[in-house]
Amino acid sequence: MKTEIITVNPDNINPVYIKTAAEKIKDGGLVAFPTETVYGLGADAFNPKAVAKIFEAKKRPFEDPLIVHIAQKEDLYKLTEDISDSALKLADEFWPGPLTLVLKKSKNIPDIITAGLDTVAIRVPADKVALAFIKFSETPIAAPSANLFGRPSPTTAQHVLDDLNEKIDIVIDGGRALIGVESTILDLTQNPPVVLRPGGVSIEKLKKVVKGVEIYKQDKILSPGMYPRHYSPKAKVMLVEGNGNVQVKKIKNLACRFNLQELSVGILAKEENIDKYNGFKVKSIGQGNDLAVCASNLFSVLREFDKEGVDTIIAEGVKEEELGLAIMNRLRKAAGE
Ligand code: AMP
Ligand code: MG
Repeated sequence: MKTEIITVNPDNINPVYIKTAAEKIKDGGLVAFPTETVYGLGADAFNPKAVAKIFEAKKRPFEDPLIVHIAQKEDLYKLTEDISDSALKLADEFWPGPLTLVLKKSKNIPDIITAGLDTVAIRVPADKVALAFIKFSETPIAAPSANLFGRPSPTTAQHVLDDLNEKIDIVIDGGRALIGVESTILDLTQNPPVVLRPGGVSIEKLKKVVKGVEIYKQDKILSPGMYPRHYSPKAKVMLVEGNGNVQVKKIKNLACRFNLQELSVGILAKEENIDKYNGFKVKSIGQGNDLAVCASNLFSVLREFDKEGVDTIIAEGVKEEELGLAIMNRLRKAAGE
């Protein structure tokens, strides 16, 4: 199959192009599209055969459920029956945006989307191209990230092509995903609500809207699709936590040790520390106090190291607050914990 690339200017969306992509969805095809978090790989959520193709293209295990994307809050009623006050409050506050809500599913949702669970994950993305595409498709769009299963998520159309060229019908190129890490997933079927995955909306912000939000702990509940190793480049990833010069020294020691074993090393460092790694192959994730920039660079820098054939990536940690929680979650998983 040849993958068609449709380039769309988010500030001047040509509906003709979006309609071509929407027709492909109606025909049961696969379309990758930009969102503000990462690129998604979409299919008609009410067409189980089309949804099955997502799993096939990504080599994703069927026990990993998908997020359903809708264009407006009102479409919730097509997917779930009992919508609590907190769900509506959260939707009002954070949609469109990087928050996914897990709710009781309605019977008409195909099991393949929810991995047989009686809950469904739903989100309204903020990206204008994504919204236009979902509207024209006239159906909710089931979409995981548009990468091969387990790889770093794609933040550009080129990343999608690197993983899925000739495996999907269309990729809509709407430029870079602005946030760069996936949505926050909040399970509202549990009391108190539980954050299953930290992401684009910080826990600090959630707590201002819903009381008692808890963070998922591995030993407490196990949700399908939560794997210890994920978001991983081909290179081995090591995360060195800690601060200041101790961290830098540790990383340099490790890099030297790997170099002695004739392994090539890439260091992922905060902008302010770059100069300290003179003589090493080093890339910047962004200023440590600008977590939005760090999040938006994370996956693309991991992919760049892979393109350059690095064997091991040694990464500095960032502070674990706001978006930093999502960044550290992805880095830990990329490292396989
Ligand atoms: P992706 O869009 O590739 O980041 O994957 C979506 C993630 O959403 C999955 O890996 C699951 O962890 C999560 N998810 C989707 N549906 C549900 C659900 N019904 N309950 C809990 N988690 C879910
Ligand atoms: Mg994914």
